[in-house]
Amino acid sequence: MKYISTRGAAPALNFEDTMLTGLARDGGLYLPETIPSLSVDDIRAMRGLSYEEIAHRVMYPFVAENFSEAEFADLIAKAYAGFGHVARAPLVQLGANHFLLELFHGPTLAFKDFAMQLIGQLFEHALKRSGKSVTIVGATSGDTGSAAMEAFQGLDAVNLFILYPHGRVSEVQRRQMTTPDASNVHALAVDGDFDTCQGALKDMFNDFTFRDEVRLAGVNSINFARVLAQVVYYFSSALSLGAPDRSVSFTVPTGNFGDIFAGYLAKRMGLPIDDLIIATNQNDILHRTMETRAYATDTVIPSISPSMDIQVSSNFERALYYAYGEDGDAVAAEMSALKETGKFEVSQGAYEALRETFKSGRVSEDETSAEITRALKETGELLCPHSAVGVRVGEQHLGATPMITLATAHPAKFPDAVKAATGHHPDLPPRMADLFERDERLTRVSGDVEDMKALVRERLA
Ligand SMILES: *Cc1c(COP(=O)(O)O)cnc(C)c1O
Repeated sequence: MKYISTRGAAPALNFEDTMLTGLARDGGLYLPETIPSLSVDDIRAMRGLSYEEIAHRVMYPFVAENFSEAEFADLIAKAYAGFGHVARAPLVQLGANHFLLELFHGPTLAFKDFAMQLIGQLFEHALKRSGKSVTIVGATSGDTGSAAMEAFQGLDAVNLFILYPHGRVSEVQRRQMTTPDASNVHALAVDGDFDTCQGALKDMFNDFTFRDEVRLAGVNSINFARVLAQVVYYFSSALSLGAPDRSVSFTVPTGNFGDIFAGYLAKRMGLPIDDLIIATNQNDILHRTMETRAYATDTVIPSISPSMDIQVSSNFERALYYAYGEDGDAVAAEMSALKETGKFEVSQGAYEALRETFKSGRVSEDETSAEITRALKETGELLCPHSAVGVRVGEQHLGATPMITLATAHPAKFPDAVKAATGHHPDLPPRMADLFERDERLTRVSGDVEDMKALVRERLA
């Protein structure tokens, strides 16, 4: 299987090179040349299997060129062994036809662990085999950084630098990034917001001299391996509710569009999904695009669901690629308009294609809080603010098809918002109860990408 760029002008790569490269050299994002499909019988045969077995069957067609079946099974087993729940992604019921998919039982309490734990294993395996090493730089609104630190700390062949917006992540998120003490991981607190961090990261990838010099690799959700790992829980949850003989819909709290794009891939692979619903907080660029056709960036307004405080939604480019009929030139033209003017208008045809698959909703700060309160009172579930955004939008789209809303983080990761809404201070699970006693280690850096590059070079020297 070959992977190609959404902008149509970068070399096609195999899975391993796609994973180690991250962003394509034409600025685009990698996608499989053709999306593998699973038959109704294949899907039915997965009912009742463990998460790991489902993961293997769903992902193997994408990686077969680089990993033997036995190797891949072994890496999956290692990736999920550290989760705090044997089902990995358990489903609980919120209402007659509304279900919550708990994706927060991994080591850093957010859904990012599903992908990061696996790609930590895949990177290590691939690099050991080739004897090479890489520098990973990641931008984070909080959860990607902590998940990456956890997955890559102590690996010989990887140096990891995480860029996070100074003062704009929760204390638990910050501590998860600043307390790992392995010498190969570095937390950089950037003056700016998430978009500053993500913009700097893209500039590093587009500086080919720097990119080649440090052997730059990326683990943001622009990395296709991340998206792939997230396809699995769409299958596992839908199977629990009767797929393929019964359709389901999903509501997904969305920022960078990585998680919900994984749902789109699951649907294209043959999983019967009716609707994929984008749930945004007040940073609602995706909701506005779905309402008006105009994709126009705005300034980020900090919210109580900070992991979704984003105005440039990178993975949306992948959805656009399919909406524009796999026309890389058309996508490249829209993306250069975006870079120059901060906006573009989705073509009528592409807009209709998007609306066939995606719906959307936006939730204000007050509504998010009210939803945390309501859910606790009516269901006993303590939701993190991101999951509350999802549940609120999910409630608005209930119908005959079972609705599965993704719970993207554990409430203890965002204790202030949860306490304000409910009066309860959510406790960290016992395995990380000493987080507030550990020493912190971080480096402040300006929002100028040249300063960041200098710092990376200095640490590698
Ligand atoms: C990253 C994150 C999101 C947004 O996911 P995307 O893939 O960027 O859309 C939502 N909730 C939490 C808790 C997150 O960490």
